[in-house]
Amino acid sequence: MRVLRRSLDARKAYALGHRLRVEIFSDGEVARERIPAPAPAPWPSSVPRPRVVIVGSGPAGTWAALRLAEAGLPSTILERGKAVQPRRHDLAGIQRGQLDENSNYCFGEGGAGTYSDGKLYTRTKDRGAVDRVLADLVRFGADPDIVVESRPHVGSNKLPKVLTALRTFLEEHGVRYMFSSTLATIITDKGSLRAVRTTAGDEIPADIVILATGHSARDVYTLVSGAGIALERKGSTVGVRLEHPQPVIDRIQYGKAAGDARLPPAFYEVSATGAERGVYSFCMCPGGFIVPAATERDGIVVNGMSLSRRDSPRANAAMVVSLRPEDYGEKSLGPLAGIEFQRRIERAAFSAGGGEFQAPAQRLVDFLARRPSTSLPATSYHPGVVPGNIAQIFPAFVVESLRDGLESITRKLRGFLHEDAMLVAAETRTSAPLRIVRDAVTLQSPTLPGLYPAGEGAGYAGGIVSAAIDGTRVAQAILSRAS
Ligand SMILES: Cc1cc2nc3c(=O)[nH]c(=O)nc-3n(C[C@H](O)[C@H](O)[C@H](O)COP(=O)(O)OP(=O)(O)OC[C@H]3O[C@@H](n4cnc5c(N)ncnc54)[C@H](O)[C@@H]3O)c2cc1C
Repeated sequence: MRVLRRSLDARKAYALGHRLRVEIFSDGEVARERIPAPAPAPWPSSVPRPRVVIVGSGPAGTWAALRLAEAGLPSTILERGKAVQPRRHDLAGIQRGQLDENSNYCFGEGGAGTYSDGKLYTRTKDRGAVDRVLADLVRFGADPDIVVESRPHVGSNKLPKVLTALRTFLEEHGVRYMFSSTLATIITDKGSLRAVRTTAGDEIPADIVILATGHSARDVYTLVSGAGIALERKGSTVGVRLEHPQPVIDRIQYGKAAGDARLPPAFYEVSATGAERGVYSFCMCPGGFIVPAATERDGIVVNGMSLSRRDSPRANAAMVVSLRPEDYGEKSLGPLAGIEFQRRIERAAFSAGGGEFQAPAQRLVDFLARRPSTSLPATSYHPGVVPGNIAQIFPAFVVESLRDGLESITRKLRGFLHEDAMLVAAETRTSAPLRIVRDAVTLQSPTLPGLYPAGEGAGYAGGIVSAAIDGTRVAQAILSRAS
């Protein structure tokens, strides 16, 4: 018997249980390989190999490099941040209020995924593609349980090791990593791609460029827009991190069983309509930490992560409001308006926090009662929180939706409106507010053939697994050029 899927069913607190999906074999029957690993067809020796440069070593860039390398097509990976180990020191720096704008929670080896929570669930419907990414992670050292857990989670203490093993494999297959190398220019000649240049002046010849720079590389959007490459606005979200004491969430979800050492810290997923907009939780981190995920010196961005043990005494989740492309205003900025919309909020949060990445925060009860907080509960956010009025940081329509949505959620979920529940601002980077346009079939930019926008920053993914799948898709599109 083999377990295919395992989940904890906590829908009825009085009847907690595990659900298992299993595959049963009769005597002598040999278990089939669960996740077929179709090796990509090798690049034919009769076809000249294109020079591929991948900008960004996040999940999208890494998985594109992996699939290309498996087919015998090596690439050069340009990464503005540092390798995982030195990057760790810069994360310690931002906890003390010192930000390195090229090495932080968003930038560096493995991208935003490395020191993330490492939750590996996704809304992607293509189960085969998801299983393939999970199998790759196991191949490079992740716990094999991620393949069967319904909510697989690696933890940010374990992801760096997996990434280091993945880099070793790629280097053995001819992939060249260039760390601390920031893309500055895409060089073209009569409308064809010729090379990329870094801010340090290095020029790397390229026939193909995969642009997998994530949603925080705002300079890349500016350079793409300046080069006349098509971009378009898309919807996104902004909001706050909501932090609760973990035992409060355990009581809500597990009832009398809360506190049983066999149960993992409880998870939640909530949604509502607030002032005619979607308001929902996202990236919930049981037993986690709120982290400073800023990439600019004068803006606060919060996000969440947890270690594999998930043993912090606090639970946090993004609580966000959906935005439509027209919400960004600023017609003159065209597709870049969403970036300015996010930036205004991040700067307002920074100045409300008083500098050094202390974040403005407000008790949930105070936010709903429309009064500023004068004291705050303990938090997992290391740079610290400052009591304030969240409503002053966001445009009025966001505040109205968030308040309406949270009122409705707290009515439905008894115990959620806890005295020590706190909103921390601002959560602005859950997704990209614009898209780098690509052809639906060739996946290339229609304005610059040979340029393949990929992953979350390009607007085609929304998490670690979906970004890795998008990188795979782009690699397949490139490999199909040989046939
Ligand atoms: C703290 C935190 C926790 C998260 N937790 C989860 C989670 O639990 N589960 C989940 O699914 N998702 C999580 N996410 C989101 C997830 O990390 C992203 O969705 C995913 O990493 C996107 O992958 P990507 O490859 O498209 O881009 P990214 O991972 O953003 O990678 C882009 C890379 O490009 C590099 N780059 C940018 N500009 C340049 C340039 N000009 N030159 C060279 N290199 C450049 C960056 O340094 C970066 O390494 C989290 C994110 C954060 C910040």
